[in-house]
Amino acid sequence: MLQRTLSIVKPDGVSKGLIGEVIRRFEREGLRVVALKMVHLDKEEAKGFYAVHRGKPFFESLTDFMSSGPVVVMVLEGEDAIERTRKIMGATDPRKADPGTLRREFASNIEQNVVHGSDAPETAASEIAYFFNALEIHSH
Ligand code: ATP
Ligand code: MG
Repeated sequence: MLQRTLSIVKPDGVSKGLIGEVIRRFEREGLRVVALKMVHLDKEEAKGFYAVHRGKPFFESLTDFMSSGPVVVMVLEGEDAIERTRKIMGATDPRKADPGTLRREFASNIEQNVVHGSDAPETAASEIAYFFNALEIHSH
């Protein structure tokens, strides 16, 4: 199924110089970047984005981290884009991520794990709408 998903190069990925590496790996697997921008979330915006995790022990630390520096947000489009993006990223905890995945190769720990990807069609739709309006998304 043709899908769209939201991906983010997190603040650690940006500061490590991995913007190009992340995009290259998505494009190499045939995913198309149909929207792209850099933003610096404030604490409230980070809390809004990760609202599903409100109440979890790592929520404060996660939203501090996500608002600690600029991030690159993008919409990826392709067949089964959600699952393929998460496969390229690897498991949340880099110690459990498969060899060759972005998180296994570049993540520092379970929190500072370089990249985000939506986990289902409904979350993809709401996460895309959190950052982009229809005029900012360009299928090609
Ligand atoms: P993401 O939603 O960022 O793509 P994910 O879907 O693999 O990651 P989630 O369970 O949605 O994982 O957690 C969201 C983010 O919260 C993780 O990517 C990570 O940055 C952070 N996180 C998750 N679990 C922990 C934890 N146990 N300790 C610290 N941070 C965590
Ligand atoms: Mg998630």
